[in-house]
Amino acid sequence: MILPILQYPNDTLLQISQPITEFDEKLSTLIANMIETCKTTDNCVGLAAIQVGIPLRLSVIKLGNKYIHIINPEIIYRSGETSEEWEGCMSVGVGDDQLFSKVSRDIKITVKYLTKDNKSITRQCNGFLAHIFQHEIDHMDGHIFLRYVSNPARIWKDKDLNEYIKKYNILPS
Ligand SMILES: [Zn+2]
Repeated sequence: MILPILQYPNDTLLQISQPITEFDEKLSTLIANMIETCKTTDNCVGLAAIQVGIPLRLSVIKLGNKYIHIINPEIIYRSGETSEEWEGCMSVGVGDDQLFSKVSRDIKITVKYLTKDNKSITRQCNGFLAHIFQHEIDHMDGHIFLRYVSNPARIWKDKDLNEYIKKYNILPS
């Protein structure tokens, strides 16, 4: 089932999500529905439960051609060294009007999380994937990526970004 995605500035997106304690059929169904929802657009590389109105610490993340889910994630190591990557969010604009910006985050992190079978996983992430994990965990704490953008001139609409790339064959600096 495709779920409706809340759009900023909907107040629900600012809520702090609660840890998951029930690893049941309902959770598996929610994960399957979130993956189905994420698959509706190429722009979706991650989706947090709060974005579909459910305040639980759960996200689905696109990893190559497959989708993983992370439950109650904790960042147990941060490199301190940062990198800038382009980020967008399914809750910040739709289609041509979706907003993107370069965001600075830790380049390397180690995350510990659970799966729907209550199995513990520790994963090291670098670069763009590290950004996705940090972006998703931010959602669980009620934070939207735009909070890191100090200059509004650095916020781009999807259609303007695509036109720029078509014209110059490179992303804006
Ligand atoms: Zn997001």
